[in-house]
Formats: sequence, structure tokens, C-alpha cells
Amino acid sequence: MSSAFSGKVVLITGAAAGIGKTTAEAFAAQGARLVLADIDAIGGEAVVAGIRERGGEAVFSRCNVADAEQVKALLAMIENDFGRLDCAFNNAGVEFEQHKLADGDEAVFDRIMDVNVKGVWQCMRFEIPLMLKHGGGAIVNTASIAALGAAPKMSIYAASKHAVLGLTRSAAVEYAKRGVRINAVCPAVIDTEMFRRAAEIEPRKAEIAAAMHPIGRIGKAEEIAAAVLYLCSEGAGFTTGIALPVDGGSTCI
Ligand code: NAD
Repeated sequence: MSSAFSGKVVLITGAAAGIGKTTAEAFAAQGARLVLADIDAIGGEAVVAGIRERGGEAVFSRCNVADAEQVKALLAMIENDFGRLDCAFNNAGVEFEQHKLADGDEAVFDRIMDVNVKGVWQCMRFEIPLMLKHGGGAIVNTASIAALGAAPKMSIYAASKHAVLGLTRSAAVEYAKRGVRINAVCPAVIDTEMFRRAAEIEPRKAEIAAAMHPIGRIGKAEEIAAAVLYLCSEGAGFTTGIALPVDGGSTCI
């Protein structure tokens, strides 16, 4: 087992599936002590079991990131049981709405904003004080290429991910001198459960999605995990407030 994150306490939200799960496995392989959070306890416990089987260290804590009390309790548990927080990957998110703006629904708007925006804000507001207690840390928030431009038929989702960049950049500047680096990763289409659910509604989704990336395919969760580990690493020590596209070239056309 490699040890780039040996002994580092790392929190990952949305860790029961997809990008969060794969990133948890990548951190575990580098020696991190993981706290995995998700609303899906069965999936989260299964990820923990897999990591432990391979000799890694992980615990699961059920947490809805949109709920302030649950996020506060999660960070209190981390302080009590681990004494510190070195890295946080605020990744829990819900998918886009698949219709034009005027066909939108208020309940859908509230749900997307609650998880994707308020969830990231809640997490950062309790993570940052704990990181500051021991000299700093690194935070990565999951945005999207939908945060970098227009995203037809997903305007609410796009607005939520633009907001993630607003939170990321503003907090990055606020805490830059105090040792907390805060960045965002902007995936294009990645092959996860979220993508597969969208593909069930639109059967040609896989073909259309592959064609929109100059690389000619959709991305793998491992490719997002690699970017997150880089942004959390000492090698990224001069990098804060960025929105890193991991997108097969799709934002340069
Ligand atoms: P996924 O649906 O496969 O996994 C998301 C996980 O988040 C699930 O385990 C789910 O239970 C959890 N979750 C949802 N709501 C939660 C809440 N309120 N509190 C805690 N956990 C919650 O999705 P994914 O594709 O791995 O997406 C992860 C992140 O990446 C999301 O923020 C998503 O918007 C973003 N993203 C995904 C893609 C893609 O194509 N898959 C592209 C760009 C950005």
C-alpha cells in the first residue's frame, strides 16, 4: 500500500456510490483514515467493508448533507474520534432535471439546491473550523462542467454547480492565509450510477455523451478520484480556488 496520505483523516460525502466511492478507495490505497458519509447506509457500509478487506481504514456515518444538525454531528464525531480533519471531499449531489427552465418544478429546484448547494456550504462551514484548529487542510468540492457554461435542460442543476464554484472561490480567498486550500473539480460525463439513471430515461444518452467529449468516450470515476487526490496532495500546495475540469476536452470546444 502506497502512503502519500498515510495517517491523514479524510472525509468524503456521497461515498456510497459513484465518484465518492471510487475516491474513497483511492484514498484508502494511499493510507488515509477515512470517514465516509452518505444517506445510503447499506451502500456506505459495503464500501467500508471492501476497504477494510483490502487492509484500509474506514468508518461510515449516515449523514444527509442538507441537514445542518447531521453535518454538525458528523464533524463533532470526527473531532472526538480522530482529533483532526486533514482533507474533505464534498461530493454528495443529486442529478439534473432533464427539462427546459419554464417546465421546472419548485420541489425539484429546492431539492437540487438543498443537496448540491446547501450541502456543500453546510459541510464547509463545519469542516473549516476543525481544520483551522490544527493549522489547515484541503477541501475539494464536486462541481461539474455544468458550472462552467450553459447546460440546456439542466438549468437548475447548472445553477447549483455555478453556486458551488461561488462558495469554493470565495472561501478559498477567505482562508488562503490560514492554511486551508479549497478547490473544485468539474467532471464532464462520468460513468456512475447517476449517469446510468439518466441513460435509462434517454437510451441514446451513452452515444450522445461519448460524442460530446473530444476524447471520444465518457470519463471514469477513477479519473475524477485521481484529480481529487492531486488537489488534496502536498504537490498542490500552491493551488487554491480553482475549478479543475476533468472533461475529456469538452470545455475547450
Ligand atoms: P451517484 O448518484 O452515483 O452517487 C452520489 C452519492 O451521493 C450516492 O451515494 C447518494 O446516496 C449520495 N447522496 C445523495 N444525496 C445525498 C445527501 N443529501 N447527503 C448525503 N449523500 C447523498 O453520483 P455521482 O455520479 O458519483 O456524482 C457525485 C457528484 O459528482 C455529484 O455532486 C454530481 O453532481 C457530480 N457530477 C457527476 C457527473 C456524472 O456524470 N456522473 C458529472 C459531473 C458532476
